[in-house]
Amino acid sequence: MSGRFVVVGAGTMGLGIAYVAAGAGYAVELVEVDAARGADAVRRLGELWDRGVQRGKLTAEAATANRERVTLRAGLAEVAEGPDVIVEAVPERLDLKRAVLRDAEGRRPVLLGSNTSSIPIAELAEGLERPADFLGLHFFNPVWAMALLEVVVGPATAPETTEAAVALASRLGKDPVVVRDLPGFATSRLGVTLGLEAIRMVADGVASPADIDKAMVLGYRHPVGPLELTDLVGLDVRLDIARTLQAAYGDRFAPPPLLEEMVAAGRLGKKSGQGFYTWRSGVKQ
Ligand code: NAD
Repeated sequence: MSGRFVVVGAGTMGLGIAYVAAGAGYAVELVEVDAARGADAVRRLGELWDRGVQRGKLTAEAATANRERVTLRAGLAEVAEGPDVIVEAVPERLDLKRAVLRDAEGRRPVLLGSNTSSIPIAELAEGLERPADFLGLHFFNPVWAMALLEVVVGPATAPETTEAAVALASRLGKDPVVVRDLPGFATSRLGVTLGLEAIRMVADGVASPADIDKAMVLGYRHPVGPLELTDLVGLDVRLDIARTLQAAYGDRFAPPPLLEEMVAAGRLGKKSGQGFYTWRSGVKQ
């Protein structure tokens, strides 16, 4: 299988989306403005495929082919016109995403998607010339392990675009849900609620982060507790989402002061090595 797949932003999510797209046979262009982050993402992709070979999940030839399918780009201007897909995975800020999406549309992709966790597709589509080709493609972290793809249909999204997104999900080995365009969609609205309340419980001294997480894992059969999940997502990312949802739904989504303090102190979770837990080489201590 062939095709061109462009991912904008080589952070937590862009890296994962590039991983599954390359694995599905796309020629992947990973666009990252921060050169060090871009190089690091390419290195980490190689490590992930090497680990896959060690575990017997793919052959050494397939790992090499995947690696060769990924090209790093310093900006969208370096991307040739007409890719099959462009997905943006830049930080959760409306102005930034709008600017990136306008540039991305200029590369004339067949399908244009946003990995936003909470911003309405209608708001992101403002300023686009072809909003019919645009929708939300909300992947989950870590992308290679999470089966869900939330397909968010904006008011201007064409039915063929939704169909194309559902077909894309299947090519990437994902299981889609199609949801209406309301802030937080189906997943973040519920998931962030739980995460924010867990942070308030830490601040109230209800229990340690480990015990709050353990209570949800053992008591409610969650695969991972809400605080560890917040560390995996990134506290800065969750803070941005909470602010977006607060603007949409009111103070029930107001970010807890502890979350704001931790982000201001650079305690962003797994990616910074410290959040509610300490992380070394990506492993919770
Ligand atoms: P991140 O901060 O890890 O990565 C964002 C990357 O985008 C950074 O590397 C940054 O340098 C880059 N970037 C910024 N401006 C750019 C530009 N103009 N062009 C190219 N690259 C640019 O963020 P993330 O956690 O990967 O989140 C990205 C998006 O995915 C957000 O909208 C977030 O809400 C959403 N999301 C995150 C998660 C999660 O678990 N982290 C899950 C689902 C969705």
